[in-house]
Amino acid sequence: MKIAFFSTKPYDKIWFEPMGKEYGFEIKFYEVPFREETVYLAKNFDAVCVFVNDYVTAAMIDMLYEMKVKAILLRSAGFNHVDIKAAEDKILVLRVPSYSPEAVAEFAMGMLLTVNRYIHKAYNRTRDFNMSLHGLMGVDLYHKTVGIIGTGKIGQAMIRICNGFGMQVLAYDPYPNSKLDVEYVELKDLFIKSDVISLHCPLTSGTKHIINKNTIEMMKEGVYLVNTSRGSLIDTDALIDGLVQGKFGGVGLDVYEEEEGIFYEDKSNEIMQDENLARLMTFPNVLITSHMGFFTKEAMQAIAKETLENAYALENGLPLVNRTEIR
Ligand code: NAD
Repeated sequence: MKIAFFSTKPYDKIWFEPMGKEYGFEIKFYEVPFREETVYLAKNFDAVCVFVNDYVTAAMIDMLYEMKVKAILLRSAGFNHVDIKAAEDKILVLRVPSYSPEAVAEFAMGMLLTVNRYIHKAYNRTRDFNMSLHGLMGVDLYHKTVGIIGTGKIGQAMIRICNGFGMQVLAYDPYPNSKLDVEYVELKDLFIKSDVISLHCPLTSGTKHIINKNTIEMMKEGVYLVNTSRGSLIDTDALIDGLVQGKFGGVGLDVYEEEEGIFYEDKSNEIMQDENLARLMTFPNVLITSHMGFFTKEAMQAIAKETLENAYALENGLPLVNRTEIR
């Protein structure tokens, strides 16, 4: 099988290159993202492999179909960046639904601990021998209420971690999991009662801007918000308004609405054109990271293994267990 691999970073090759050889696959690693103007690079390949900030529109699916490309291999769990409906009957979409939910949940807790206790600021201060504690006071998480939105694999890992911290856990999911020992509440109640809110639902038309002006108004003063799921779950303008009004104790964002083209790239020598991102950087209680919740050795290895197993199943007519279809 010949696979055209897009948005390649050096760390992708560490596992994909040797594992690909073991499977006997021919992988061409392109650094460029998957875009309308780069689709042509997939000519003569059996599959394309894309990441979270690549997008696959209906028009691009038609182009792939014409080129007889059989599959889109997503090396991610999320699939909001692919027009799944347009792909139906034309091209298979295979993803990696689970690689290490703990990697993302541990990172979400790391973000919460960092913004709450100002570890990001303390790190810089002490390196400058500024040992003052002024402005660095946080709150205990013990006995605080955390609201988990989305109780899938990552949400469940986050619930385990929060239980370990002695927090009271509330959850909202339109498909509650009766096997979980967690108190499900209505979304509104979660917003009203939580001291910490952590987002673990996928981005869909129903969840876009689930955090907006109205829902922010419902939240407690001093609430902590962590988003390791997808940027567009939050209406950034409403978030900035809330931050300006002092609504939030802290905000951790591993994802951002307009991250495409910015995240994963070194933009340190450029003038930042995204005014909302620049504004978010000015708040002392906001921590932004570059969509890296997944980034552990275990997760990267599992992503490579599962992605290539998806390709192997396709090549050998085995059941396609990770096929992504419309629910
Ligand atoms: P999952 O499919 O196991 O769970 C998602 C859960 O969200 C499901 O239980 C589903 O019922 C629920 N859900 C659906 N609609 C909802 C709604 N309107 N409100 C609340 N919950 C809703 O997915 P997962 O593996 O737990 O991943 C969750 C998300 O995390 C992914 O969709 C992806 O966007 C994101 N993610 C981020 C990173 C990262 O590096 N930051 C890595 C992997 C995944």
